[in-house]
Amino acid sequence: MYLTKCAVCATELGLTMGKKCGRCSTRYCGPACQKQHWEEGGHDKLCKLIKKAGGAEQYHANKKYAESVTIAAEACAEDVKGQTCFICTQALHWKTKEGLVRMCACRGTAGFAHVSCLAEQAKILVAEAVENNLDSKVKTERFARWSMCSLCKQGYHGVVRCALGWACWKTYVGRPEADSARIMAMNQLGNGLRAGEHYEDALSVMEAELAMGRRLGVSEEHLLIVQGNLAGSYEMVGRTEDALRVRRDVYFGLLRLNGELDPDTLREANNFADSLCDLDHRDEAKMLLRKTIPLARRVLGEGNEITLRMRRNYARTLSSGGDTLDDLSEAVDTLEDLEQIARRVLGDAHPFTESLGILPQVREALTTKRRNIFLEGCGFGPG
Ligand SMILES: [Zn+2]
Ligand SMILES: [Zn+2]
Ligand SMILES: [Zn+2]
Ligand SMILES: [Zn+2]
Repeated sequence: MYLTKCAVCATELGLTMGKKCGRCSTRYCGPACQKQHWEEGGHDKLCKLIKKAGGAEQYHANKKYAESVTIAAEACAEDVKGQTCFICTQALHWKTKEGLVRMCACRGTAGFAHVSCLAEQAKILVAEAVENNLDSKVKTERFARWSMCSLCKQGYHGVVRCALGWACWKTYVGRPEADSARIMAMNQLGNGLRAGEHYEDALSVMEAELAMGRRLGVSEEHLLIVQGNLAGSYEMVGRTEDALRVRRDVYFGLLRLNGELDPDTLREANNFADSLCDLDHRDEAKMLLRKTIPLARRVLGEGNEITLRMRRNYARTLSSGGDTLDDLSEAVDTLEDLEQIARRVLGDAHPFTESLGILPQVREALTTKRRNIFLEGCGFGPG
């Protein structure tokens, strides 16, 4: 978590309020908490250590990184038995002794790695792009290595994404606040925390990111993307009305700035539709998806995760209405097609593929509907 709270009483300090320890930058709401932390909270012993690690934010990031790597390796332990890292070729990391992970779309014996090795690779590739002053598109692609598998080209998910988020943040947190890698790292951390289901922490990182972006005067487009992420966290903590409000703004904002074919616009169109479904604005969601699915298919491709998500949401608007035979049968067809594509592109264990587990239920609704219509036709009435 980005440190925005008093270390003693957890009062929210935003990015700038309160007081910092002059040596290690640990943050407090005021002198009383600082004094208490020193005298009774053990800060007298830790202060030097924190300073040596590079200050409170860095110390915290290092600690959370180590914890998150352990969690990721434990979650993958069964899956990685007998495998080796595709980067360092070892099963145990030579230095950290951490275990292997794999949470992307790689299958068979491909894609097993140490979080440390993945992080080291991303760090080197980003540094090289900066050193050689490669253009911004290449830099963005290189930076994506902090969250995307280089072998299957799919995003990491779950606790592995979370560990990589901490890895990224720990790598760049020591840089000046306006440094572009640090700004992007904060974004990786927020999305990683969400993937690891640390929703409250994700929310506070994203709120800090938005406040920082506004203060630094980053582009309107960047602010909209941060707000889009923030809306996702609102949704996860149950603030669905807030999520819908922000997502509407983000979608129409990006539409105006980047046009309807931009991948960010398309992703936010789907997120907006998702929020509309959540709050039962089914017709509006349906209309939006009817317009944007053909665009996503054309621009991003059939196997792209955004295209797949849009189509799943569309099936959801059809089946949750559940009114007509045509709707239900189109929902079943769509879900069957999606299941095939998702198994091929993302693999069976991917959260998206698992989310298609609703298919049997929709099939059953269709069967019931057909039977009722048949019975009505025979003069038996519904039921
Ligand atoms: Zn305090
Ligand atoms: Zn201190
Ligand atoms: Zn390795
Ligand atoms: Zn992969």
